[in-house]
Amino acid sequence: MTVTTPDSPIKHQIPSYLDPNNIGPYEIFLEQVERVTPYLGHLTKWVETLKRPKRILVVDIPVHLDDGTVAHFEGYRVQHNTSRGPAKGGVRFHQDVTLSEVMALSAWMTIKNAAVNLPYGGGKGGIRIDPRNYSQSELERITRRYTSEIGLIIGPEKDIPAPDVNTGPQTMAWMMDTYSMNVGRTATGVVTGKPISLGGSLGRSDATGRGVFVTGAEAMKKLGMPMEGARIAVQGFGNVGEAAARIFHGAGAKIVAIQDVTGTIVSEKGIDPAKALAHLKATGKITGLEGTEEITRDEFWSVDCDVMVPAALEKQITLANAGQIRAKLIVEGANGPTIPAADDLLAEKGITVVPDVLANAGGVTVSYFEWVQDFSSFFWTEEEINNRLDRIMQDAFRSLWDVKEQHGVTLRTAVYIVSCTRVLEARALRGLYP
Ligand code: NAD
Repeated sequence: MTVTTPDSPIKHQIPSYLDPNNIGPYEIFLEQVERVTPYLGHLTKWVETLKRPKRILVVDIPVHLDDGTVAHFEGYRVQHNTSRGPAKGGVRFHQDVTLSEVMALSAWMTIKNAAVNLPYGGGKGGIRIDPRNYSQSELERITRRYTSEIGLIIGPEKDIPAPDVNTGPQTMAWMMDTYSMNVGRTATGVVTGKPISLGGSLGRSDATGRGVFVTGAEAMKKLGMPMEGARIAVQGFGNVGEAAARIFHGAGAKIVAIQDVTGTIVSEKGIDPAKALAHLKATGKITGLEGTEEITRDEFWSVDCDVMVPAALEKQITLANAGQIRAKLIVEGANGPTIPAADDLLAEKGITVVPDVLANAGGVTVSYFEWVQDFSSFFWTEEEINNRLDRIMQDAFRSLWDVKEQHGVTLRTAVYIVSCTRVLEARALRGLYP
């Protein structure tokens, strides 16, 4: 199939079995693996390992609702790969969660953990639920039953969940407690992203947004873009998007647009993320903030900016909007926000993309610090954590940028080359059991 976008003369060859704007998340991952296979040399023998998740668990979650009725939810935990260490990755509560999505998210965790060289494989979990429709006590029962059901395969040395969309420190506290009750001891290391008082790590809540900033700032240096006054557009104003916006703003950049699920705001003069957050908390929506104008959801993509940070959900940058993007740099805070065909178009337009598997690895890096601190029962200061995080992200960015230059590929392909090589080297060295 050949696709031409309205404002681009460039033609894209899309595999015939894929509708370019409507491929499943796991198919996106498979296509990304296909693209790097030519770079894997003798490790190509093992590439099928990456295409097949090691273990998939689908669970039924029956719970009593507050009105006394019984509801059933579908939950998933996927361990994509454990060649380099235990599976590691978040748990998402969302009405659109599917097995394909959780499989893809777990696979991206394998790539991400290898990209920043953490001793982990990749895992992910989710429950198909719109949490806004349930009370706190209902969510607690749902989380606890889910944790018990996936308790078969998780554990501090097996698979360590963490927060993702619509889950947070409270969810992790319930998961830690449920797992601990089931095994008869307090097992703080079974999840990360816990409240500080339960073995959580300082710096965790900002870590992903901080990593987005650090890798974005490194890319800006490579591209000769000054931070002072740089125009930033952020999609998603939750854990990742809010922290990234706040840290960019603090470093002298100007937040010119914010989009979340409630709407899109722009301001030529720049938006103060602290005021936007206070407004969101007070009114429940981002729109209506003093000094900003509201634009449509689609207009967000053509906002005049230097850096765009998609930090909401996957499949946001498609052939329908990639042609309109005016940024020179995209830093992917979200997982999988750009479909592969749009990625090609961005590359052809000369837009640099810091891919999700590198840009948002700050969260799992501090999760790793949390896990290490829990095992040693010795906790670091926030300064130590931020310094270690910055160093890991900067080193990873610089070495991956060198691979990109060496092969003349995009940064995403460079990350996949390095990560797939690391995972498959471990696979080859371990050999097959039995
Ligand atoms: P969150 O729930 O805290 O925030 C999500 C944000 O996206 C909210 O502001 C929401 O309003 C917005 N949003 C939802 N649907 C939208 C839509 N259709 N259009 C525009 N905005 C929309 O979630 P989060 O933890 O910030 O995660 C965001 C992304 O970052 C996800 O892809 C997640 O997998 C990824 N991520 C998160 C972490 C982490 O540590 N939280 C780590 C790595 C990657």
